[in-house]
Formats: sequence, C-alpha cells, structure tokens
Amino acid sequence: LGPMGEDALRGLNAEQLEAVTTTEGYVRVIAGAGTGKTRTLSHRFAYLVNELGIFPGNILCVTFTNKAANEMRQRIHRLTGDDDTGYVNTFHGFCVSVLQEDSYAVGYPKNFLVLDNSDIDAMLRIIYEERGLSLRDMTFSRARDMFEMRKCVSERDYFRLMVGPSADELHERYLSATKVEDILFYGYLYQQKKCFGLDYNDLIVFTLHVFASNAEVRGKWQGRLEYIMVDEFQDIDPLQYELMEVLQAHHRNLFVVGDPDQTIYTWRGADIRFLLEFADRFSPCKTIELKRNYRSTPQIVSVANDLISKNTIRYRKTLSTVTPSGLAVRGHHAHSSADEAAWIAERIAELHAGSLEEGRNPVDYRDITILYRAHYVTRAIEEALVKRKIPYVIYSGVQFFERSEVKDALSYLRVVCYRDDLSFMRIVNRPKRNVGEQRMRFLREFAAGQRISLLEALRRSLDDPFFRGTSAREFVQMVDRYSADASHRTVSELLARLLDESGYELALRTEGSQERLDNLAELRQSIYEYETSCGEEATLERYLTHVALFSNIDQGMERDKVRLMTVHAAKGLEFPHVFVAALNEGVFPSRKVRSREGMEEERRLAFVAMTRACKGLYLVDAEGAAQEGIPRYPSRFMLDLKPGLVEFDEPLPDSLVAEARDYYRLSDSKIAAAERLRSAPRFKVGERIRHRVFGVGSVREVDEGRRAYLVKFDDMGTMRTITFRVPLERV
Ligand code: ATP
Ligand code: MG
Repeated sequence: LGPMGEDALRGLNAEQLEAVTTTEGYVRVIAGAGTGKTRTLSHRFAYLVNELGIFPGNILCVTFTNKAANEMRQRIHRLTGDDDTGYVNTFHGFCVSVLQEDSYAVGYPKNFLVLDNSDIDAMLRIIYEERGLSLRDMTFSRARDMFEMRKCVSERDYFRLMVGPSADELHERYLSATKVEDILFYGYLYQQKKCFGLDYNDLIVFTLHVFASNAEVRGKWQGRLEYIMVDEFQDIDPLQYELMEVLQAHHRNLFVVGDPDQTIYTWRGADIRFLLEFADRFSPCKTIELKRNYRSTPQIVSVANDLISKNTIRYRKTLSTVTPSGLAVRGHHAHSSADEAAWIAERIAELHAGSLEEGRNPVDYRDITILYRAHYVTRAIEEALVKRKIPYVIYSGVQFFERSEVKDALSYLRVVCYRDDLSFMRIVNRPKRNVGEQRMRFLREFAAGQRISLLEALRRSLDDPFFRGTSAREFVQMVDRYSADASHRTVSELLARLLDESGYELALRTEGSQERLDNLAELRQSIYEYETSCGEEATLERYLTHVALFSNIDQGMERDKVRLMTVHAAKGLEFPHVFVAALNEGVFPSRKVRSREGMEEERRLAFVAMTRACKGLYLVDAEGAAQEGIPRYPSRFMLDLKPGLVEFDEPLPDSLVAEARDYYRLSDSKIAAAERLRSAPRFKVGERIRHRVFGVGSVREVDEGRRAYLVKFDDMGTMRTITFRVPLERV
C-alpha cells in the first residue's frame, strides 16, 4: 500500500473491500439500508486516487442531493487529503459544470442562468399579463408541468424547439399562438431565450444535446471521465440514465450502488428497472451484495425488515446486524396533535438531560431528528419545542409561521385588528386586485403627506380615477366590515370568512397549491385549539400577540439543534435518534395514494424513515380533530408490525385497532376499484381523443399489456405512448 492508501481500505468488510478494489469494468452493488454503500463509494474514490494514482478530476461521483454531495466531498477530502475532489455532484450540478465549459458549442454564453421555480413564475406573470390570461386559464403549477412534458422530447426535437430558433423567432411564434398552451409554452421559451436561461429540466437535455451535436465536446468528456460512480441508483430517471450511458461509453468503468427497497421517486420518473436490469445492459457486470447493517441496532433493523416484508413487488435481500442490542423501538398513540407534539418534546428533553437512554448519557440536540411525510405536520411540533425552549432547525423547508401563505393569512387578521401598514402592504394585492407598484407608490406618498395609514390613504382615494379598474373598494369594505364586528366573532370564523371573501383561498386552489392549502387548514386547526384552551379569553388581539411569539423566534447562533425534515430530504442520511411523527393513515401513507404500487412506494418511504435511526427510534401518531374532519387512525405502517417489535407506552385499545383495520380495508378497496376503472381501455383504435397537453389525436394502437395507447397527435410529428391512467376526452 502507498503512503496514503491505508485509510482507503481500512474499516471495510470483505464484500466492501471487493467493491472498492474492483475498479475496472461494470460493477453493481445491491444492498440494504445502512450496509455501507455510500461509505464504499467514498472509499473507492480514495482508493482510485491514493492507490491507482488517478486524478480526482477524472472521476465523476454522482449523489442524489446537494447535501449528500457536500458530505461526500468532506469524506473524500479526509481520505485523500487532497483539496481537489473532482466531480462530486448531483446529475444536475454536473451538467452545470459541463455547460459552463461547453455551452458555447451550441451558441449559449458561459454565464447562462439556471432558473428555479420562482424565476419561471416571474416569467409566467409577464406572459399572463401581456396576453390577458388568468389562473383560470391555467394554474402556474400546471403550466410548469406542461413545460416539463413538452420538453421531454427527443434531442432533435429539443433542438428544433429550443436551441435552434432565435429569440426573435420565438417571439414571433409566441405572438401568433392562439391556444393557451401554445401561448404559454412559446412565451416561456422566448423569455428563457432572452436571458439564456435554462430550467432544471433543461440542464440534462441540453447537456445531452451538446454531446449529440458536437462529437469533439462529447469525446473530451468521455475521455476525461475515467471512472463513474452513482449513489442511490434505485432512483435514477430515464434522462439521467441516458446521460450516464453517454458519459461512460469510452472508458466503460461504471460503478453503481442502490437499494430497491428505497425507491421513493417513481412519482418523478425514477425507474427501478435501471438497477435490476443493469447487468443486461452493461455486461459483463459484477454484482456484489452487502449483507450487514452497520448503522442500526437489531431492534430497529427488525422493525424495518418486518415493515418492508409486507411489500409484494420486491427484490429480496438479507440484512443482518452488526451493532449490539440496544433500546427498544418505542411507540406512542396520542390523543391530539398537541399531545403528540408534547410527548415528542418531553422525550427529547429527557434524552437531552440524559435520563432516558441506557447509561444515561446526555444526548446532544443535534443527534435528534424528527421526520415527517408532509410539511404542515411541523406546526404543532414547533409550538411544543418552543414551549420547552428546545432549539430546532427545519431542513428543506420553512418554519411554519414563516411560510408565506401562513403570513398572508395572519396579515389579513392583523389588518382587521390593527390596520397596520406592514400587513396592508403584504395583502392588499394578494390575491391580485390590480393595486400594483405604481398605485402603491402613490398611496405611500399620499399617506406620508397626510400622516395617515395606507389603508386610510386608499379609502380616501377610492373615487380617484387612478384607482379605476381595481378591486380596492371591495377590499376596503371587507376590512371595515370585519373590523367593526371582530369582537362578535371567533378568530377561527373570522379567518375563514376573510380567506373566503378575499378570494385568497380560491386563488391557491386555482394555482393548485395543495401544500399551501394544507398549511392554511393547519393554521385554522391551531386557532381552533387555541380557542378551545383559552375559552372566553381568546380574542383576536390576544391571539395575534400569541402567534407573534412564534414568528419572531430568535434562532441565535446556537448550533446544537434538533433537526426537522421530510423523509424525502433525509434520504441517505443517518441520525442517532429518530422520531417519525404523524404516523397516521391518510398522512403517512398519504391520502393521495391511488394505486397499490403507490401504497408500496409509501411503505418504502416509511422504510427509509425508520432506517435513518442508529440507536433510538420513536413512532408516534395522533388521533383527534383531523383536517377536513376525517377521523384519524394510526398508520398501517405502525399497526401491521409484528406484536412485540414496538414497545407502546400503553397498549392500543382493541376497539381502536379493529376500527383502524376496517379503515385500511375500506381505503384498499377504494384503491382497487379506482385501479380497475383506470386499467380498462376506454378507447378503440381509430377513435379521436383530446389530451390535456398534447391536444387532439387519433388512437393508433391499444397496448393492453403495458396499459397504454399509441397516439398520433395532430400537432406532432412522432407517435406518443400514453398510459390508460391519464384522463383523455373523447372528441
Ligand atoms: P443507505 O441505504 O441508507 O444510503 P448505506 O448503505 O449507504 O445506507 P452508509 O451510510 O454508507 O450506508 O453506512 C451506514 C453506517 O455504517 C455509516 O455510519 C458507516 O460509517 C457505517 N459502516 C459501513 N460499513 C462499515 C464497516 N465496514 N465498519 C464500520 N462501520 C461501517
Ligand atoms: Mg447511502
């Protein structure tokens, strides 16, 4: 071994060692959670650099998230001592590197812009305004989906659509378009082209396009990347796969690792077959299995194994444990979300004080993580943590009372209560009342001159011709009406009326922002809880003072904090103690599940959640007043576990368990019925149909095996395969 090589091979078991040292050709590692796949990957990188003398810049190492890429870079840095960590990045991040170097090859400048959703929305706003469209024509999120679908074309079509035409040509097409979809699509392409902007979906297609159209550039990258490694390969999607295929074509050294039980992105196009059929496409291929879980206690591994064994579509693997027996996995059924949150906060306080864990060692806050399926769940938990003065940080999301729709809703209440300028500015034009920047400037000057509030300034300007064509009058009247009788209503009623009459909720609904609506429902729920606990005292003013405490929490510089994140964000990470919150049927698994495959994906997601834990795992659910009045039962992911694997504080009442099981059966039969309906072909060959995005076309073939139609759309050159699942209209 060389001078630095020892580290790279130390601390690996025999199979891991084989994976690290089999450097040439195609190698696939299929292994369960916590078996050291990611560790093997980083050691392999170090081995290539330290032992084989490969430059880091000749290695591409692909991770799933930016956070994982950062961690990987640090690990590699520790192992090689080299500052150059080569290309350790997500597929998208890697594409940015390629394009910064070579986008000139197709006439794009190096300083092209990478657009995020808010940039796209800003462009959409311009287009809607210019063409007099409203959200009723199409919501923003639908428009973004439509772009994604229309851009999902062959590389040649991509050139014809996006790269080839100049900004002027796209502008022409935009102006002459008449159908809403085309107006938006070409309007967006024009806006993009004007600033040389590429959105997330473009990055990979565009890179593929650069490679396809310029053999020299392609050859350069193929030659440069002597070794390619991909983590979390079970969640790779078709475009990423294509990119990887191109990149490896010269050296043919490709190393992929994945766990089929952790596929959680099929809803975004991930396809597990790429992992399972890898050896057919890339042969000869060596497959290595890692069987020992180094991460979690036997108690945690048993729970996770038992959970995932309920899935029917599975690639079976064995998973044994290495770590000594530890704490029991604990379960708790709370009577309300507030109780659930209080229980979690109490356990965290105990862990931190060192009174819960064996050996009674105090646990740092940073070693505790709370995972959940949906963002709105954090509200109750945040309140409980604040109450106990437990510091926390939310990853991949915004604290509940900082979320924009929650702030908007509270601003409505504040305007009614205080008529203050800050809240006024926030909501006077949300939803759109045509009180834009110019009119606001006028109001500010007027108000400053007269020393009155903005609301008052607006009231006095209602008859000014400058405010013709706005809905300012309705707004002022609404605020006045509710200010006058605020004391006669409960806060929750007031909020419901304001959100309804202002059109705020309707706007979210037309935008299709389910997550935002969920957050508003959760806010209402919290107000309701506040009212129940305070009784007569629950005035509007008191409530607003109460929430002000939460919205201005000083996060300080303290680094030792409990972490809160969604399960999707926790992919690939590990934490000593994990709480899985809101394990309720309808929340986790989500009520949006529409198929048995969907249910299995939810179970894999629960598997990912549980396998993040090293020492302590706590499964918690809450019954009680649920959103939308649906009764809440413990999740099947909790109740289907073998008795004895989870230690409950109090045994669940038999009647509750029986009711919950009836409820699962009911939702399963609903799913099965929906599936039957979707799986029967509704159209025959020759029939004319309309597709939401692609427009009108003729059915050319009905493929019962793949449950899809082959359709020739009138406006498209090539045929398209459309699954039975998508609603089509007969024309
Ligand atoms: P996931 O499927 O969740 O991504 P993984 O298979 O990538 O998990 P790693 O995160 O690489 O697993 O490893 C899990 C834990 O086990 C890490 O803390 C890692 O350092 C440790 N580990 C892995 N292999 C060994 C080993 N041979 N000796 C000691 N510890 C190990
Ligand atoms: Mg991993």
